[in-house]
Amino acid sequence: MGTRTGQIRSRRVKTGSGVVRRMQRCMPEGVATVLQRLDAAGAQSFVVGGAVRDLFLGRPLGDWDVATDLRPEQITELFTRVAPIGIEHGTVMVLTRTGPVEVTTFRGDGEYVDGRRPSRVVFHTDLEVDLGRRDFTVNAMAARRVVVDPFGGQVDLNRRLIRCVGDAKERFAEDGLRPLRALRFAATLGFFVEKATRAALPAALPTFAKVAWERKRIELFKLLCGVSLKPLFLLEESGMLEQLAPELFGVNARLVAMLEGAPPGWARLACWALARQVSPGGCRTILARLRAPKREQRMAENWLVANLDLGSKPPAGCELRRWLSRFGVEDAPAAALVARAWKGQRYLQFPTSVRQAIRVAPPLNVADLAINGRTVEDLGFAGKEVGLVLGSCLNFVLERPSRNRRRTLLEFAHRLSTGRSQQKNNTFFSPPIGFSDPRDPSLERDDDT
Ligand code: ATP
Ligand code: MG
Repeated sequence: MGTRTGQIRSRRVKTGSGVVRRMQRCMPEGVATVLQRLDAAGAQSFVVGGAVRDLFLGRPLGDWDVATDLRPEQITELFTRVAPIGIEHGTVMVLTRTGPVEVTTFRGDGEYVDGRRPSRVVFHTDLEVDLGRRDFTVNAMAARRVVVDPFGGQVDLNRRLIRCVGDAKERFAEDGLRPLRALRFAATLGFFVEKATRAALPAALPTFAKVAWERKRIELFKLLCGVSLKPLFLLEESGMLEQLAPELFGVNARLVAMLEGAPPGWARLACWALARQVSPGGCRTILARLRAPKREQRMAENWLVANLDLGSKPPAGCELRRWLSRFGVEDAPAAALVARAWKGQRYLQFPTSVRQAIRVAPPLNVADLAINGRTVEDLGFAGKEVGLVLGSCLNFVLERPSRNRRRTLLEFAHRLSTGRSQQKNNTFFSPPIGFSDPRDPSLERDDDT
């Protein structure tokens, strides 16, 4: 486990009263207003789920979810600005000055029929019923003036365990996403999956298969952002990896350590693909299967192409500019981080070199050249030749950015045109070796490379 996990391990889990105090200190104004309004209406109201867990752990806080015994229509009446998103599941989104707050009626779930969603939700007035339908003990706590923890969430936080609320087999059979969520929380919190919960993972596979790819993608992405990637062993052992990305089969300790050193998210998937010798197109296929946005598919594919193009030593100077020119400055910084994780020690400084090279803003594309297609046409080139000449000019400039002057490039292109009249094949479009403009003293310096 990486050092970041170690930091979490050494952090003390707060006590119940410590959490109530921290909650009062950290609570966004909008959440406090919502709770006060619910109090004034005589309702029970609690902060529930992830916020309570993260308050105990002293982690950065994300969404604050509120649960109450009021019905959705009663909640709606209490607030002037609401978005009735998810009202059929009992959730009203209250729009506050500090952002939206989800207020959900205490609910139990009706029967799960298809392993994905409950057939119906049943509203309750009992907080414990609401906590009982939640996935893991550490997510099944509520806090207000006191902490309500009927399933031993605090004990599991102290033991660093992800444990299902109730019988793991049954809970996984209800909702096939939960097995992957178990691994995701183990990764993000740096926790272990409790024995019975772990034992129930393989049997959950048929239900896992029914879950929408989008929901699986969100959890896999969060898993890949985790402080620990040890849960990847369980992802493979349980059979979930076989369904998600059989191409990536073969998790071992070296791979896990390498991926923990890579930037969180899909960059880790890209490193994993490199380690398993998956092609760039294959990596794209995995992300397409997971219904990732096209932009993310292209980006990961590009990272792989960029890395396959790198040698054992990091490129510098002219080679680095060529690399940047090929992959574009947009994807290059992330591709460089992937390279650092994948290639190891020799590429330690590579992301810094890439950032520095980009900061200097050298000409990297035909559009950055000091001449354009019109200029080339004026020299007598036509049709496809224009693009070839501009490509040659770009190569010439990538060698030394200070060559990007109109006069120098005109002279260079002119030489190409002279070459054309002498040669019948296309080789004249390669830049003449050692070409330099004698009228331009800056060309004699070789300080760009
Ligand atoms: P994060 O900080 O990553 O958002 P979170 O605990 O808030 O963590 P969410 O996915 O936002 O996780 O869910 C909010 C809460 O809703 C959880 O803490 C849990 O109590 C409950 N929950 C979410 N998904 C499920 C599920 N599939 N089955 C049971 N309970 C769930
Ligand atoms: Mg959340």
